[in-house]
Amino acid sequence: MKQIRFFLLLVVLISTVAVSGVAAQAPAPVTLVKAGRLLDPRTGNVLSPAAVVIEAGKIKQVGSPAQVHAPDGAKIIDLGNATLLPGLIDGHTHLFLNVIPPPEAEQDRHNNGLFAPELLLAIVESPTKRALLGAQNAREYLESGITTVRNLGHSGIDGDTELRDAINAGRVPGPRILAAGRKLVTRGQTYVQNLNPALADSILQQEFLFIEGADRARLAVRQNEFQNVDVIKVTAEEDLTVPELAAAVEEAHRVHLKVAVHAADTHSIQTAIDAGADSIEHGNEVTDTQLKQMRDKGIFLDLTPTFYDGLLKLFEPTIVMSPALRARRVAGDARRKQMYDALVPRVLKSGVKFAAGTDMCWFYPGKTCGQASVATMLNLPQAGMPALDVIRAMTTNAAEMLGWQDRIGAIEPGKFADLVAVSGDPIANITELERVRFVMKDGQVVRNDLASH
Ligand SMILES: [Zn+2]
Repeated sequence: MKQIRFFLLLVVLISTVAVSGVAAQAPAPVTLVKAGRLLDPRTGNVLSPAAVVIEAGKIKQVGSPAQVHAPDGAKIIDLGNATLLPGLIDGHTHLFLNVIPPPEAEQDRHNNGLFAPELLLAIVESPTKRALLGAQNAREYLESGITTVRNLGHSGIDGDTELRDAINAGRVPGPRILAAGRKLVTRGQTYVQNLNPALADSILQQEFLFIEGADRARLAVRQNEFQNVDVIKVTAEEDLTVPELAAAVEEAHRVHLKVAVHAADTHSIQTAIDAGADSIEHGNEVTDTQLKQMRDKGIFLDLTPTFYDGLLKLFEPTIVMSPALRARRVAGDARRKQMYDALVPRVLKSGVKFAAGTDMCWFYPGKTCGQASVATMLNLPQAGMPALDVIRAMTTNAAEMLGWQDRIGAIEPGKFADLVAVSGDPIANITELERVRFVMKDGQVVRNDLASH
């Protein structure tokens, strides 16, 4: 009896191998996507009508329907009059945070009080819970048309590298992730203060790697290398020195990792420029001289218009505000808007390379994480950036900033088949990007709300 069962098992095994062997030899599945228009963000040219042939998850041909050739039996997706664009890219996000502004009294009690209590909770609560939050945010990102993100810290020790691998393995849906692992910080900028001194380091090490001198900076990069990160994130503030940051940059570049440096004030921006950062994140106080230095060195400015249209929209639905706090917020919102309205035209004029990120880590009432992220990047046109430049900042430019210009950011042969489509003309009305109707990643349809024709 045992022998018969073993024989049957063997037959099943052999036939399974045989079937999968046949499948491996079959030609790769081909998909033909047709649409009324296709926008090339690099040139601004519109191809109309357009067709894209996709084979094995990659773009094989782009042209008019008469020009391209798809074999008999190819799957056809007809998007009617819609406009095709490359999948969108968020150059700066935090998938593993979802901060709800705390009550006013709580905010006043902490340094960085808007952000700190929730961050501390995220670190000390269950990493499993946090991983599932990351998975939810990743799915929401993809559904909103963002097919690649660069996750720059605040993921615990291995949240973003593991989520990246789980998405790549098909376990959960989500965008392509460039994962930074733990953020490198100096001890003065740990984001959470007043910790029990006996426990402080063991708590902070779940989220950050400390830079304390050039050697520790190198070691921190190596610890992230061990975690198989795609990019190094460093926070630069007044207390970070050029030799410390330069050591981190040198170690990262040795293993072909780019370095994204959070730098908002003029002093920190200069540190990042002098140490050879690849991208400067935020850069809110950048001077014209610094923009020129960045342009000459090829350093990207990653614009994050996170609060351009105000912090009030986060506060009002969730917390009770005193008249004094409301007045402070209104004044702060106006100040930030004015600063950004001046910054964006200076950036465009300088010729510096720029891309867009969201710094998403906030709970937006009524919006998914993906919807809030697209809306955040669409603050750029409000601040004076032309629609085509905004789309470049979210596609071709961002791909170059990530070092993935050979893989994503454009609808061109050889690139991953990451596509989105909108009903209208995104150049005439950039808010079309908030209403993405079709999403494809790796040649697989994520969503298609367009009626088939
Ligand atoms: Zn950030």
